[in-house]
Amino acid sequence: MDLCYQKKKKLMKVLKFGGTSVANAENIKKVQAIVASESEEKKMAVVVSALGGVTDLLLKTADLAVKQDESYKDTLQHIEDRHLETIQQLIPITSQSAIISKVKQHLNQLETLYEGLYLLGEITPRTSDKIVSYGELLSSYIISEFFKVAGLDAALKDSRDLIKTNKHFGKAQVNFKLTNTNCYFYLKGAKHQVTVLPGFVASTVEGETTTLGRGGSDYTAAIIAGAVDAKTLEIWTDVSGMYTANPKVVKQAKAIAKISYEEAMELSHFGAKVLYPPTVQPVLEKKIPIHIKNTFQPHEVGTLIVQEDFKEELPVKGISNVDKIALLTLEGVGMVGIPGISKRLFEVLSQEEISVVLITQASSEHSICLGINAAETEKAECAVNEAFAYEISLNKIKPVIIESGLSIIALVGDQMKSHQGLSGKMFSTLGKNNVNIRAIAQGASERNISAVIDEKDVNKALNVLHERFFEEQTKQLNLFVTGVGNVGEKFLAQINQQKKFLKERLKLNIRVVALSNSKKMVFNESGISLSNWQEELAEGEAASLDGFFEKVKSCNLRNSVFVDNTANDVVAATYHKYLKNSIAVVTCNKIAAASDYQNYQLLKKLAFNYNVPFLFETNVGAGLPIIDTLKNLIASGDRIHTIKAVLSGSLNFVFNNFDNDHNFHDVVQQAKVEGYTEPDPKIDLSGVDVARKILILARESGYQIDMEDIENIPFLPQESLDAPSVPEFFETLKTHDTHFNNIYEQATEKGARLKYVATFENGKAKVGLEEIPADHPFYNLEGKDNIVLFYTDRYQEQPLLIKGAGAGADVTASGIFADIIRVGSN
Ligand code: ADP
Ligand code: ASP
Ligand code: MG
Repeated sequence: MDLCYQKKKKLMKVLKFGGTSVANAENIKKVQAIVASESEEKKMAVVVSALGGVTDLLLKTADLAVKQDESYKDTLQHIEDRHLETIQQLIPITSQSAIISKVKQHLNQLETLYEGLYLLGEITPRTSDKIVSYGELLSSYIISEFFKVAGLDAALKDSRDLIKTNKHFGKAQVNFKLTNTNCYFYLKGAKHQVTVLPGFVASTVEGETTTLGRGGSDYTAAIIAGAVDAKTLEIWTDVSGMYTANPKVVKQAKAIAKISYEEAMELSHFGAKVLYPPTVQPVLEKKIPIHIKNTFQPHEVGTLIVQEDFKEELPVKGISNVDKIALLTLEGVGMVGIPGISKRLFEVLSQEEISVVLITQASSEHSICLGINAAETEKAECAVNEAFAYEISLNKIKPVIIESGLSIIALVGDQMKSHQGLSGKMFSTLGKNNVNIRAIAQGASERNISAVIDEKDVNKALNVLHERFFEEQTKQLNLFVTGVGNVGEKFLAQINQQKKFLKERLKLNIRVVALSNSKKMVFNESGISLSNWQEELAEGEAASLDGFFEKVKSCNLRNSVFVDNTANDVVAATYHKYLKNSIAVVTCNKIAAASDYQNYQLLKKLAFNYNVPFLFETNVGAGLPIIDTLKNLIASGDRIHTIKAVLSGSLNFVFNNFDNDHNFHDVVQQAKVEGYTEPDPKIDLSGVDVARKILILARESGYQIDMEDIENIPFLPQESLDAPSVPEFFETLKTHDTHFNNIYEQATEKGARLKYVATFENGKAKVGLEEIPADHPFYNLEGKDNIVLFYTDRYQEQPLLIKGAGAGADVTASGIFADIIRVGSN
């Protein structure tokens, strides 16, 4: 080779601009500016894709024509319009006519091809290549003409003259010997600073048009870069480099600054569309760096793909996914210990040109499982069943099993091999988020670990894995909130206020994805605005509990939490569905935890089995950390003997205000007016509410107990207990004035105060009104405060005491909030 040129050509750069970068006149002007800014370069090859979306349109038009659907003419017209519009916007009017006439000439040829398809009703791969080639032929022509009028020293060269392939239409194999010589000598002799070339297209030695596979313009540029031993290969696209995961799916993904050739290849092979997989190969040997840059943010650094050892870096470089995968499983007793079965399997697939994306084989050799492209399942099924027809007829091998609707997700990184536990981390993260794994494969190079999962789980899987491997510190919680009354409203306000703090300090990113009241519900995956959620909710759809659940399920977001701020039994009856889908449940609604023991037990079990929190701290003592303390005591090996507690804010209010000057009826009335009682005050005064609370505490202490087991000694006269309505109930309180006064007198005579106390002792629980002497910790309990005393192995004489405000929307909301944070640190 000409050594003198060799030195010079090292200075040559190859730039490739993708479909979005050249989608319209405005973008093409950006491309021109980028090329112009490299004016110090002696020589550049600029490879361009078809105008964004045009390849798809060309194929769609062909499909319509083949189906003899006249509307192919409309899509063809649309293709024509896009090109003509682009010319009109780029080229001065005086120079337009020659260019338009050339473009029309191309479009006429294209039209003739489509007419042929329409008449024949069929298409061959050869014709298909001929048709799609027009996308790049037109774009490169228009762009080169624009470069000239914009003052660049540019010329067009048809890549089909340089890149030579076999006849494998659709995805032809390059004859590198011929191609390298052609490219080298042509570009060596090029007279202009900029040579514009169409990507994707090539030709056979006989001159028939071929293509290099979808996304193949990257490859064209790499082939040219390899042939001329370019200084760098720049891939200009619509994102700022190769990201840690597809940025369209994972919002937190970041551009990777530097990555090795092997890692880039692995990521692109497993779906990182930003680089067409074969692209690395032609530049690898000559170690030409590939630089991925963003046409729309040219100043961003992008990604550099180079030959380097990144020992210090994170073990996982990126996560990618390939959709539309099917699993093909061949199994049977006749496979064990018989050599050559897999060889035959791979042979038949290769004969049918079916590429195998992933391989797993159980060590028992009883089955082989392969991942293939879903589009090829039918072909694969027939071919494999035919190849093993004999064994199948003898029942030695079962007919091939095909499962579709799957995707592969892969973790990629050169350094993964020197880190233990990565696959454990990957699979436990997926498991925790209820992502079912159908097959697993680890590349022999240990550069990737891949898993086959349901297509519907891909978004969630990518996001949780990304969070686990790249954002270790931040965790996003997705809340689905039902009930926006007093408590719910306060709860949303508190999240709104604390959001920033939680993100910065606790690394928790809380997002309210759904809201519902009894009338409306609204969903917004990017988060409902917490400053005007009322408006969003008012515009929501009609509420339905089933609809809400189905939507939560279909959102399929990681770290999902269902928050129940209602007191509704029908809502409580839906918890099991959420837990079974690995959705955490946080609730201030007492109904589930106080329902029959079997149901309580089932919910706890589901939470355990699906490894997801079911939290209801606010069921007892609102925001006071009572249940959490109890759990911590038990978890640390303590045992609860006795619980004594005052757990009703409303009853406390009543007995703190009832004295000689205020009759019982009026005090209860006042408590109701001030909102301290249930709408039906009998629920409080009969002790039912307190009984539920001690029931929950006893259960959480590890005792199997039901509502019927709780002794409830009423202080209300029978007539009040039997009152059929709220007004009649109040009437009975008046009639029985003396009864209540007597209770009061008896207590004061002894210097005691009246408190409604719940007790759990020796496995038995009771609730009732008690006379509390002056030296007792309950004596001075004020207002709506609650108090709980735990007597345990460790706290035998002096109980562990928890006391504070035990009712009110504000403290209840903060208790729910605390549960949410517990979910976050789970
Ligand atoms: P072009 O038309 O420029 O060739 P492509 O659409 O082929 O662009 O590739 C760029 C797209 O690749 C991005 O818009 C992005 O959606 C997708 N993509 C998938 N995975 C990744 C990844 N890991 N990093 C960057 N982009 C990715
Ligand atoms: N235009 C071709 C495609 O859409 C090639 C490319 O853009 O890379 O597949
Ligand atoms: Mg591409």
